[in-house]
Formats: sequence, C-alpha cells, structure tokens
Amino acid sequence: MAANHMAYVHLLLFCCKQCNKPVSITGISDVGNLEEIDGHTYEVECRCGWLENLLGVEALRHWVVPWEQRNNVHHRIDRAEGIGFSN
Ligand SMILES: [Zn+2]
Repeated sequence: MAANHMAYVHLLLFCCKQCNKPVSITGISDVGNLEEIDGHTYEVECRCGWLENLLGVEALRHWVVPWEQRNNVHHRIDRAEGIGFSN
C-alpha cells in the first residue's frame, strides 16, 4: 500500500498593521477544518519589519486546499511544519 495520505494546506491572509500590505502565511496540517487552525497563534512577519503573533481567526481570509502528501515532497512538508501548523 502506498503511504500517501491527504493533508490540508491552510493559507491565511493577514494585513500588516504597520504598512497595510498583505501578509500571507501557509502551512500544512492533518486537520482540514478552519476552527482548529483559527484557534492557534501564528507568527506573522511583514517585509517592513512588523512581527506579531496573531490568532488564525484574525486573518482576513482563510483558505483550505486538500493536499496529497507524496514521498518526494517530504522535505518541503517538514519545513512547513516548522512554522507551527502541526501541533
Ligand atoms: Zn508591513
């Protein structure tokens, strides 16, 4: 049996409170529902230097994309987990 299983990519769009530009963060999670992700805090960093920990629920938009995990993308997924989406 192949070890592929479905994961979910979450894309959260925030607005920088300093320069008003859009800042997006993405991460991969086993969890597909919005509420689970919205309840966590994420480090949101803008190019202007603004950095703040925001709740997922504070995002302007939140998209979820089903994501098939394949063996050849393990490294990328590991890095995504490093930003705190898979706790
Ligand atoms: Zn900014």
